[in-house]
Amino acid sequence: AKEAGRNGYRFFTTEMQSRYSRMLLLENGLRQAIERQQLSLVYQPQFTLAEYRLTGFEALLRWQHPELGMISPAEFIPIAEKNGFIMPLGEWVLATALRQQARWQQQGLPATLMGVNVSAVQFRHPRLGEQIRMLLAATEVPAQQLELELTESVMMDNPQRTVAVMEQLNLLGIHLALDDFGTGYSSLSYLKRLRLARLKIDQSFVRDLLIDEEDRTIIGTIISLARNLGLQTIAEGVESREQLEMLRTMGCDQAQGYHLGRPLSAEQATELLLGRRSF
Ligand code: C2E
Ligand code: CA
Ligand code: CA
Ligand code: CA
Repeated sequence: AKEAGRNGYRFFTTEMQSRYSRMLLLENGLRQAIERQQLSLVYQPQFTLAEYRLTGFEALLRWQHPELGMISPAEFIPIAEKNGFIMPLGEWVLATALRQQARWQQQGLPATLMGVNVSAVQFRHPRLGEQIRMLLAATEVPAQQLELELTESVMMDNPQRTVAVMEQLNLLGIHLALDDFGTGYSSLSYLKRLRLARLKIDQSFVRDLLIDEEDRTIIGTIISLARNLGLQTIAEGVESREQLEMLRTMGCDQAQGYHLGRPLSAEQATELLLGRRSF
């Protein structure tokens, strides 16, 4: 076995093993992460492009692992989706985001929209609507202040059912946004049946907006599509003033991104709402 190191075999298994044990660590750790208070939400502000008015926040999940440090949701959400833990995890996210909204409401701060990411696995679960209805009732947050961010993958397995679930969520009065728009497989004919409020223009189109004419064309097409369907548009991943100006000129309604504001802790977001913190 010692010899194996020379031909790279041992290195390979060691790397495989460490990747596997990281996965196991994450998978096992995730179940306790909630009760051990290792999870938190950060809130990234969203602004109108016409007058740079703060309209809301997107809640983004963070996990501080005791041994591995900060883990990206891009890494642990797929694990939670696979092992079913996404349901309690998603409920924790919804409850925490709505409790924050309720706190702001009690402080008399201006009403804002709270965007919450919902995985396709959660969306498929028959309990989601009831879960949201109960959480809204418990926190007394008006339904119109909650926006669920769905990706186009929700439509892939069963479009009929997706439309039905969306109608049910719509009846509650909450908003629905299509996240990462333009990167998935949505059929345009479904788009008009989905009762969406907003399309979120994926950051991959925004990144090279100033130098790539094709990206500009795609964004322009998304904006006019949204207009024709009566939907709002919000661009993600805006990192410079130039991108912001271009998006404004193109008629995009809202934006979020590092140039406008990084994801903030609850305390920082509160200061922003109080006007004590500049954008
Ligand atoms: P997403 O929903 O597309 O969220 C946007 C991601 O872009 C976030 O990464 C955000 O921090 C990052 N971002 C924001 N502004 C900029 C910018 O100007 N430039 C760049 N390069 N990036 C920017 P984050 O927080 O690491 O989240 C990654 C993904 O994990 C999210 O992508 C979302 O799909 C998922 N996720 C996060 N929180 C949750 C959650 O509570 N539930 C579920 N199901 N998924 C979540
Ligand atoms: Ca999102
Ligand atoms: Ca996105
Ligand atoms: Ca994304």
